[in-house]
Amino acid sequence: DEDFSLLDRDDEDEEVEAPEAPLPVLAVVGRPNVGKSTLVNRILGRREAVTEDKPGVTRDRVSYPAEWAGRRFTLVDTGGWEVDVAGIDARVAEQAEIAISLADAVVFVVDAVVGPTDTDERVVRLLRRSGKPVVLCANKVDGASGEADAMNLWSLGLGEPYPVSALHGRGTGDLLEAAMNVLPTESAHGELRPEGPRRVALVGRPNVGKSSLLNKIAGSQRVVVDEIAGTTRDPVDELVLLKGVPWWFVDTAGIRRRVHQTRGADFYASLRTQAAIEKAEVAVVLLDASVPLTEQDTRVLSQVVDAGRALVIAYNKWDLMDDDRRRYLEREIDKELVQLQWAERVNVSARTGWHTERLVPVLERALASWDRRIPTGRLNAFLGELVAAHPHPLRGGKQSRILFATQASTRPPRFVLFATGFIEAGYRRFIERRLREEFGFEGTPIEISVRVRE
Ligand code: GDP
Ligand code: GDP
Repeated sequence: DEDFSLLDRDDEDEEVEAPEAPLPVLAVVGRPNVGKSTLVNRILGRREAVTEDKPGVTRDRVSYPAEWAGRRFTLVDTGGWEVDVAGIDARVAEQAEIAISLADAVVFVVDAVVGPTDTDERVVRLLRRSGKPVVLCANKVDGASGEADAMNLWSLGLGEPYPVSALHGRGTGDLLEAAMNVLPTESAHGELRPEGPRRVALVGRPNVGKSSLLNKIAGSQRVVVDEIAGTTRDPVDELVLLKGVPWWFVDTAGIRRRVHQTRGADFYASLRTQAAIEKAEVAVVLLDASVPLTEQDTRVLSQVVDAGRALVIAYNKWDLMDDDRRRYLEREIDKELVQLQWAERVNVSARTGWHTERLVPVLERALASWDRRIPTGRLNAFLGELVAAHPHPLRGGKQSRILFATQASTRPPRFVLFATGFIEAGYRRFIERRLREEFGFEGTPIEISVRVRE
């Protein structure tokens, strides 16, 4: 097994690994205070700490890797999101709608002690319309005496209510088993259609200029969707002609309809951003060039990278720049965005339209990288020379060797290295850097994983 080396393999077409399928997404949805966070903590096996968070505190993530009974999935957590009491009903529904759109299956949590409310009914209508599989969690059934309360929830028309005490763990096993039974094995979001217009998400923190940019580039070029045959359309997506070529700008409803600021608005924005990124192939992250980078900016950037989408960084409000700020910005880019040197940057002004035409070629390059496949022979010829010249450092008298590599998938490019032992993170980064130098991959994240052969 160990005998083959990098250089004597040149079988171009061998697929060593099937591309890793994207994990299915399970969303936990329901009114505030029904116990969503408590349930999520239980599923993730983490402590109660998160429920004790101050209301409205920004969470930096909305989805978590989870596992139940050997099944791996992504858990979308909408708990811990505090809304103002006024307008609560509309906001809960809106938030639920986004979470549902992200999900392959939904756990709908209702407070069995309170019983179904109008808001619950409203979410039920959204769930029905979505056609997604739903498991009904009748929460706060802390003892056998509460089970009658749970049975009242049959009236919601979502099938069997599972009596659960998220707090004590009672009934959560049955609930999750039911959820695993309806959760598909693969995420539908993984099926990114290769044909049809390409999908772009325009993301960034509030006020960076997303709606201004969308208005500027879409201008009067709004397309009537029926003109394009075979396009199924989500009403929140918008088809925009750029130099005569149609592109989907996904989830633009949230950009056009200004989301008014409430407590928890950050979390809400971050959920919407996540949904848009998941739907897109490439994301344009808008940053405000006239002010320093914020934590929220870097969070959006990592959401794109973590989702494995192509990335373009657009510095907006360039019309406000002066020499001082420009010099400062260069230093900031070197310091803060050093991990993202592979992403192309464009400087634009959504207000004046300056340089907005530069977006298209940059988007096209990022997508070409995202789609790129390196033939196995070429990859191994390159790695063979690299590894011969710069072997893995010796550790404890042992030397890990990389035997063979293959690109397991595209969109984004994922590489698997087969090695005789542990490959250090630093060495992995070195290989990534050299792969990029050799093959480009400008505008796309790339993933490298290692399999150890005994
Ligand atoms: P969320 O707003 O839907 O995320 O709700 P939380 O998980 O923050 O829970 C709201 C409150 O309900 C907290 O005080 C929890 O301790 C409590 N709670 C959650 N699940 C249960 C349960 O199964 N039984 C009881 N008695 N209380 C619960
Ligand atoms: P969004 O929240 O990201 O959609 O941001 P908006 O498009 O609503 O813009 C927020 C504010 O920034 C508005 O007052 C815009 O007029 C302003 N703005 C947007 N783009 C530019 C720009 O390129 N230059 C300047 N000076 N202002 C801009």
